[in-house]
Amino acid sequence: MGTVIRLSMEASLPELPEVEITRRHLEKAMVGRKLQSVRVTHDRTARYNTTTDEIESRLSGRQVDSVGRRGKFLVVGLNDGYTMVAHLGMSGRFSIASGTDTANLEEAPHTHFVAILDDGAEISFIDPRTFGFIAVFDEDELADSNLSRLGPDAWLDPPSVPTLMKTLKGRTAPIKALLLDQRPMAGLGNIYADEALHLARIHPRTPGGDLDATEVARLLVAIRRVLSEAIDCGGTTLDDLAYLLPDGQAGDNLGRLGVYARTDEPCLRCGTPVQRIVIRARSTHFCPRCQRL
Ligand SMILES: [Zn+2]
Repeated sequence: MGTVIRLSMEASLPELPEVEITRRHLEKAMVGRKLQSVRVTHDRTARYNTTTDEIESRLSGRQVDSVGRRGKFLVVGLNDGYTMVAHLGMSGRFSIASGTDTANLEEAPHTHFVAILDDGAEISFIDPRTFGFIAVFDEDELADSNLSRLGPDAWLDPPSVPTLMKTLKGRTAPIKALLLDQRPMAGLGNIYADEALHLARIHPRTPGGDLDATEVARLLVAIRRVLSEAIDCGGTTLDDLAYLLPDGQAGDNLGRLGVYARTDEPCLRCGTPVQRIVIRARSTHFCPRCQRL
């Protein structure tokens, strides 16, 4: 057994919907294709077990069998038992240019990874703040990574009410913090955790273990709805434009947010000004009337 490869699981933007949309675009462009050449140009992009050179040599010539997602991680299955794992961090995004577009393509600033596929398409990873990363694991390394410790995926494999009740039992941490933790459930970050708690009318500071079955059921329904709407809208692009779809479009979900980044604006349900508090160093938005402790 090697040492555990501890991938950073900090709750961050982009979140599950943005990663899922990215995954769908990458899947369409990459599955069945060969990575003809790969270039990694920033040391921090190769954060874990592999150097930039090793990523290039492990990826070049390999075929893409699948493009999956675990929580906020992209998991690309390659032939010969290799797996590419990517996390968008705070500001990372993938961009896809098809073979006919690449001739006149000017490289975007902060492009740290470029893969050319055998049909001429170009997959780039652009990451101004370099909190994102790309790693390439063999089977043993993948097994040794802490990806397996992620909780069930909040979209593909959401826990049942009894399962989540069991996970939360006795937990005194605020439910907001537990949703960001990625072990009870993987995929939520700051935006969608605030939105789901607002929709479920649960105060973000409520100790996880204090939620009854009705509240847990409401929370799971709210999470489903918040994620589903965000995916349908192409995800949330904030004013910093850090997240864009792989075709360069902005996501449309910002206008649908009920509390996130709406401090002092009226709650859409009751009109009470939305409050901002800090829970475990993360800004948290809620309605003090709809969400009582
Ligand atoms: Zn309200």
